[in-house]
Amino acid sequence: MKAVEARDVVLNFGETPALRGASVAVAPGEIVAIMGPSGSGKSTLLHCLAGILVPDAGEIHFDGHRIDTLSEGQRSALRRDQFGFVFQFGQLVPELTAEENVALPLLLGGVKRAAALREARPWFARLGLDGLEQRRSGELSGGQAQRVALARGLVARPGALFADEPTGALDSLTGEQVMELLVSSARDQGTTVVLVTHDARVAAYADRQVIVRDGRVNALVHS
Ligand code: ADP
Ligand code: ADP
Repeated sequence: MKAVEARDVVLNFGETPALRGASVAVAPGEIVAIMGPSGSGKSTLLHCLAGILVPDAGEIHFDGHRIDTLSEGQRSALRRDQFGFVFQFGQLVPELTAEENVALPLLLGGVKRAAALREARPWFARLGLDGLEQRRSGELSGGQAQRVALARGLVARPGALFADEPTGALDSLTGEQVMELLVSSARDQGTTVVLVTHDARVAAYADRQVIVRDGRVNALVHS
């Protein structure tokens, strides 16, 4: 259970202002959905919170530590050791089997292959993926691939999970199934979740929704 916070974050892409003083505080174990129009700065805010982008001004905090002032190498280690990620299009490694994809964060963290695969396996039953362990991503449906991506995001028990349109490539029923699994798995583990979505039905699964407009977080909706 780790807190994630942006304070007055400003970020420009050249002449384009993406964030103009965005603040959001996500409590330990909380699930927050970032909503807002296309181009408003949602993904940029997520990438700042996740230590991928460094703001031009303002502060990013994780678990009470300031992380925007860390070096590139320290942020990379922090992402590897503390953060899980889920993207819109699963982004599974096509050459690896489903169970190798799930085990990947553990392998990258130095866990031995046999132990990593042992930890990956229970996720298949948990997420309704029994029997798909040896499939490659091309042999999975969109919903199956996204559940494998969810397992990969959570397998290393991250302090925080960052998800960018995790259901964006799925039809609405499949998307809702993925969200139910995301929310229940994150709650089981006490993982803090920050997700970006433009879909109000997806956002309704969060504890709280924040709206980004023109690079600022300017509205709060409790669901
Ligand atoms: P959203 O996720 O809400 O659609 P983004 O955070 O992706 O918004 O983008 C915010 C603004 O920053 C937009 O004007 C977008 O065009 C711009 N932008 C985003 N990423 C880049 C980039 N890598 N280079 C230049 N401009 C970018
Ligand atoms: P090492 O200790 O080998 O440098 P770590 O993975 O322990 O690598 O940490 C990498 C960087 O991330 C360090 O600068 C550390 O201070 C920072 N860090 C580690 N844990 C946290 C945390 N919970 N919150 C913020 N920063 C952290």
